[in-house]
Amino acid sequence: MNHILQELANTRQTYRKMLSLYWITIILTVILEGLIRLHQGLEPSSIWLPLIAHAAVLATVTGVVEWLSRYRSIQRDWLLITTGILFASSIVWMNPTIGIVPAIYIFPILTSVLSFNKKPIIFSFATVLLAFAALYGISEPLRMTMQPVHTIGILFLFTGTTVIALAITSSGIELLDNLKSETEAKQELLVKNIIMDTVSKIDALTELYNHKTFHEYLEKLIEQSERNSLPLQLAILDIDSFKRINDTYGHWVGDIVLMRVAAIMKESVTPNDFVARYGGEEFAIIFTEKTLEEAHAIVENIRQKLYITFHPELENKAATISIGLQDYVKGEGKEGLFKGADASLYIAKRSGKNRTVMQAGLEESNHSEHQSAAAVISS
Ligand code: GH3
Ligand code: MG
Ligand code: MG
Repeated sequence: MNHILQELANTRQTYRKMLSLYWITIILTVILEGLIRLHQGLEPSSIWLPLIAHAAVLATVTGVVEWLSRYRSIQRDWLLITTGILFASSIVWMNPTIGIVPAIYIFPILTSVLSFNKKPIIFSFATVLLAFAALYGISEPLRMTMQPVHTIGILFLFTGTTVIALAITSSGIELLDNLKSETEAKQELLVKNIIMDTVSKIDALTELYNHKTFHEYLEKLIEQSERNSLPLQLAILDIDSFKRINDTYGHWVGDIVLMRVAAIMKESVTPNDFVARYGGEEFAIIFTEKTLEEAHAIVENIRQKLYITFHPELENKAATISIGLQDYVKGEGKEGLFKGADASLYIAKRSGKNRTVMQAGLEESNHSEHQSAAAVISS
């Protein structure tokens, strides 16, 4: 059986607690037995020696179990149960004339419930029966004390306790199984929700954030930027003459280029930046915690990386991209930011493509060291 409850029950703590309980039982046994004997009017000098000898035997057995547990990492249910039965047997042996004493055997049976496993309970019951039968066989005073009706009563008590112990274990296991399947169902739902959430937020082809998520995120960031005067930049990136790439090499090649561009963008930004596929062959990047110059350096890096990436599907030519970059100005809102980035992109396209323009043409960086595939196609 492989129940979590069992695993929990078999942890060192439970074993440790049981061993501590045994040590306490030894001390209590000496005290109680002493008091009983004093009450029976026995000579104090004749009381303590047998009691100490009794305690020494129990302490030796418990010591061995303790040593095995501590230094050999041997922790077995049957060791604890047998020790418990030995305790009970020794107490019965010491007090054979007290008719109720054999009832003490119910404790090792109850103890075995802690394993949350039916086998140790049955083992405990069988060993108790054996121990009781053995004591009954060898102890004359016990036989004299136990009338047949007492013996039947005691056996009934052992059986009843075992049945209850088994029932507790069954319902414990059942309860845990229910809990487990409920937890699994919840986990499954959670995973489904996460997957659905991801599917609704991510663009399937490029695995970048989609248009809708981009707008939601940008709105939040603008709000934050307004409140705390945090820097914010928006870049719009548009692949140059993409239609011609599609028309010349096929739509599937266009898709490959889109994926490569997305990968270059992802690897070039920092974890604080947000890259989205805005639509078609247009992308957007939101930069946070950066100066305009830092954002510019990143988009320029993207543009240059793409410019030197030669695609086997495009007859080993490169695709290029044009970029418009705009710094957020407090109070201008989302539309203002977009207008600025769009105006820059428009200028980048109009002035020859494969370039980054920022702040609507206030500054411009122009790189056209070699002809791009798109440029070759359009020429
Ligand atoms: P410009 O340099 O001015 O940006 O020209 P362009 O050809 O890139 O721009 P245009 O808007 O004329 O064409 C964009 C093309 O992108 C048209 C459309 O078929 C293509 N496109 C849009 N989405 C996808 C896609 O998911 N996969 C592929 N392969 N093509 C796409
Ligand atoms: Mg384009
Ligand atoms: Mg376009």
